[in-house]
Amino acid sequence: MSSRDRLLPPLGDDPERTYRLGIMGGTFDPIHYGHLVTAEQAREALDLDLVLFMPAGSPAFKQDKHVSDPEDRYATAANAAFYASRFEIDRPGVTYTVDTLGELRSRYPDNVELYFITGADAIMDILAWHDAERLASLATLIAATRPGYDIETAKARIAASGIDFDVRYIEIPALAISSSNIRELVRDGKSARYLTSESVMGYIQKNDLYVTGE
Ligand code: NAP
Repeated sequence: MSSRDRLLPPLGDDPERTYRLGIMGGTFDPIHYGHLVTAEQAREALDLDLVLFMPAGSPAFKQDKHVSDPEDRYATAANAAFYASRFEIDRPGVTYTVDTLGELRSRYPDNVELYFITGADAIMDILAWHDAERLASLATLIAATRPGYDIETAKARIAASGIDFDVRYIEIPALAISSSNIRELVRDGKSARYLTSESVMGYIQKNDLYVTGE
């Protein structure tokens, strides 16, 4: 077993059945209840065997923005979520989802199907992601939307790409919560309690995250 394998939980040991692995991709700066509800509802709706929270090490589309240290984002995810993985934060360089899915594909047996879950706004831009065509062949995409989200526009944009993406949309009312709102509240000295777990709030306060509003 390689050191990368140790970063992943085992799945797929019974060759007689198919397993479904959910991968919650995000920056998680910080993780909040909207993410947790998304993972739980995706797990139930798609009958996933396991959902891995996968904080991006160096998010591809945030190279010019301040993002909290990956260790802090991993620590808060590990505090809150059922299974948080260091798989992306331990890979040096820019985090491309296609690399993650390709690695997962080679590390899990063929009876494990991959489901990549993230926000619908991120998926709307998928054509600009690194090697989108290969990505489409590796996983089903689950796009989490807020109520009132314009799914038809998103669908049309993805359909026009000519790439055969399999995208499922799930509406998550709890996604009214956002990481950027939590960061703003903390920066302004206001309460963000109950938007995320007590342990995540405790970590944010203890480590002075978001106070400068960078
Ligand atoms: P983002 O732009 O920060 O997020 C877009 C929207 O989706 C935000 O409203 C965000 O809310 C929400 N969101 C993000 N992750 C979510 C999740 N797991 N469940 C529900 N809502 C979520 O997106 P990002 O964090 O940069 O990227 C999202 C994922 O796509 C990451 O895994 C990233 O690596 C991947 N991605 C890959 C590429 C590439 O390979 N080139 C490019 C872009 C993104 P919050 O801010 O509240 O989370």
